[in-house]
Amino acid sequence: MPLNTDVLNAFTVDVEDWYHICGVEKFLSPSIWKSLESRVTIGTEKILDMLSKRHIKGTFFILGYIAERYPELVKKIFNEGHEISTHGYRHQTVYNLTPEEFREDLKKSINILKNITGEDILGYRAPEWSIKKESYWALNIIKEEGLLYDSSVTPSWIIGDPEALPFPHQIETENGTLNIFPPSTFKSIMGQLPFTGSWIMRLLPYNIIKKEVEKLNKLKMPAVSYLHSWEMDIHHPKIKLPWTKEFVHYVNLKECEDKFNRLLDDFKFVTIKDLLKYNHNSSYIKKIKLGSNNKEANLLLI
Ligand SMILES: [Zn+2]
Repeated sequence: MPLNTDVLNAFTVDVEDWYHICGVEKFLSPSIWKSLESRVTIGTEKILDMLSKRHIKGTFFILGYIAERYPELVKKIFNEGHEISTHGYRHQTVYNLTPEEFREDLKKSINILKNITGEDILGYRAPEWSIKKESYWALNIIKEEGLLYDSSVTPSWIIGDPEALPFPHQIETENGTLNIFPPSTFKSIMGQLPFTGSWIMRLLPYNIIKKEVEKLNKLKMPAVSYLHSWEMDIHHPKIKLPWTKEFVHYVNLKECEDKFNRLLDDFKFVTIKDLLKYNHNSSYIKKIKLGSNNKEANLLLI
């Protein structure tokens, strides 16, 4: 039985192949993606099983490149009642794109996904959480292209903007209000770190993860977890990468499945779309102006 039945958390997945790694073009050029073994269905189907056993629905941020090649996989995720959101088309970091390139990549992915499901796409997550200070302009475009929320801005020095708000909130963009669902972070000796997914979750003992989610839930804050489809496929090929990239990608992969199973058993999870529906008037949802830092944000809370 979940520990906190009254607080809903978000379960999210980035659906991409094992070779969709940002910033490693010299080691793994996108031009050879086509020649590599595709294993995206292996990890994704394991996640679908893990969720269906527990009757849990999640938000799947699907890469357009994958959706174009595996429309049946997208249909399967959608038909099982999960939310389909976009992870962009080509898996490029946003801060390395021009606004025009970003818009084109986003639109392409939305069109592919919408053509498969027949439904509007509501959310976006950037590859490698790459919406930060220098790329906040992207939030204006996300809103302009008709999306309701973003789940890319990470309140951590390690990969995002340490001054960003560490809980779901709303940002006033040039084109209207956009909901922001950052991955959950906790205070560590290394500063704020995202802990509900990827390599940090794989390294942390489960009791710490559980304690930190409990802390959030006691404050009536939802945790936002995140899982990559390839993390559930521990036998995917091992390739040589710069050591930091290799560490982040491969460390403790074998622990991922067990930790997520325990997390799903201990807490209550829904899609981000459902969180938006149920928590719209929650006190933790604050509204700030785009580009304001945490200090200013506290003054600007509406
Ligand atoms: Zn990704």
